[in-house]
Amino acid sequence: MTYPTQPEASHFINGRYVEDTAGTEMPVIYPATGEVIATLYEATPAVIEEAITSARAAQGAWAALSGTERGRVLRRAADILRHRNHDLSVLETMDTGKPYQETSVADATSGADALEYFGGLAGSLTGEHIPLPGGDWAYTIREPLGLCVGLGAWNYPTQIACWKAAPALACGNAMVFKPSETTPLSALKLAEILIEAGLPAGLFNVVQGAGAVGGPLSTDPRVNKVSLTGSVPTGRKVYAAAAEGMKHVTMELGGKSPLVIFDDADLEDAVGGAILGNFYSSGQICSNGTRVFVQKGIKEAFLARLSERLATAVIGDPLDEATNFGPMVSEGQLQITLNYVAKGVEEGARLVSGGKRIDKPGFWIEPAIFADVTDDMTIAREEIFGPVLSVLDFESEDEVIARANDTEYGLSAGVFTKDFARAHRVIGKLEAGTCFINSYNDAPVEMPFGGVKASGVGRENSKAAIEHYSQLKSVYVRMGAVEAPF
Ligand code: NDP
Repeated sequence: MTYPTQPEASHFINGRYVEDTAGTEMPVIYPATGEVIATLYEATPAVIEEAITSARAAQGAWAALSGTERGRVLRRAADILRHRNHDLSVLETMDTGKPYQETSVADATSGADALEYFGGLAGSLTGEHIPLPGGDWAYTIREPLGLCVGLGAWNYPTQIACWKAAPALACGNAMVFKPSETTPLSALKLAEILIEAGLPAGLFNVVQGAGAVGGPLSTDPRVNKVSLTGSVPTGRKVYAAAAEGMKHVTMELGGKSPLVIFDDADLEDAVGGAILGNFYSSGQICSNGTRVFVQKGIKEAFLARLSERLATAVIGDPLDEATNFGPMVSEGQLQITLNYVAKGVEEGARLVSGGKRIDKPGFWIEPAIFADVTDDMTIAREEIFGPVLSVLDFESEDEVIARANDTEYGLSAGVFTKDFARAHRVIGKLEAGTCFINSYNDAPVEMPFGGVKASGVGRENSKAAIEHYSQLKSVYVRMGAVEAPF
């Protein structure tokens, strides 16, 4: 492997790379081959301490700048990310295994969108003036929270780091970010780029490690907010730990989202939506529409066309621009997925195609389609986080709404139909935070993103994210005399 994947050191703190080889060794593996492409060390308590101390020390002066000045830094960083998109995308591909065809359009670029968007917004973050009776008035001051901790999942390492860092920094906070131990490389590049763009040292620190590092970060009394992208079980733990210290949280968690396809849908569009909602990033996307409810009249045509189109997937070297389906991120995630496929067969679902391990080094699996899936089957109830699409049949609108909502999750939902009244009616009744009509999995920075029910708390992206990285101070101003009872 000739691409430079070994970073200068494991952590980035106070504007420079920091190493402490006393931490547990963390090999970084290229999922396409299983080769070790870098070796890092988990953060020791001393590294965590340094990250928190420098973030706290830097935050006050950053918050005292004007929003326009803070925004300028973020917008410069966005430009650098775009300029280096090729190199950053190659690194992201090697860290995650996702094809370059995807990383070059969806990772550093979406991170840049977030930096640009929140950079633009920073100068307009204000409180409000509230007129009151008798000439009195109140005003609100929008203040940063202080120190925010970001904990990332492994599927979109650059995007997740930017989706958290951009609104946090725009609001005047500092951040300590811990990437997933599986994909630790790109957040370090983001830290370098932010410094190059003019971010003062200490405001965006990266520390490496698994839950043993994330845990102390989420409970430290000097931390004011924890923003996690991860699974529901981790979310429950981190949310509970944060509650002890009454910290703010954003929880972007898992899902088992419904994609509802009515008889009158455009077949090609519906198949396209199902492909995007199940096989992009080898199925490792939280918002995927993995329960594909297809109305009976269109079911066989849908399955036939889906199988035809899936057969044209180019599975191969992720660095080859023609490849559009890569390996899974790790042996562990591959085994989880293979076990779910076996469970689906065992419980009586019809495996239409795929689902087998591909016999070569690395973590490869054929994309799988199941038909005749029923609501009680494990593959219809649990998040798989792999390329496994389940088709469930339905007859009526009321029936599909009830079945779609019968889950603890509520991240996303999609509807394909040409009847727009029905589309809006159905979406209105689906219990999900992020919905799509005749589309699936779009995540523009301008649109709020997040879940309801067990899928999460808070929203990322859009103006809504500002509410989750700032707080209001209310100030009552009396203009006349104070009337006290005695
Ligand atoms: P995990 O929940 O395993 O981990 C998420 C992050 O939390 C990792 O950095 C992890 O470290 C860290 N962590 C684990 N345990 C603790 C703990 N006790 N305290 C503090 N931090 C901890 O998720 P995955 O990385 O496996 O990602 C897949 C999951 O993420 C899926 O459920 C998916 O749906 C969800 N996800 C949600 C998204 C959303 O926006 N809603 C987007 C992307 C993914 P480490 O892994 O290094 O141990």
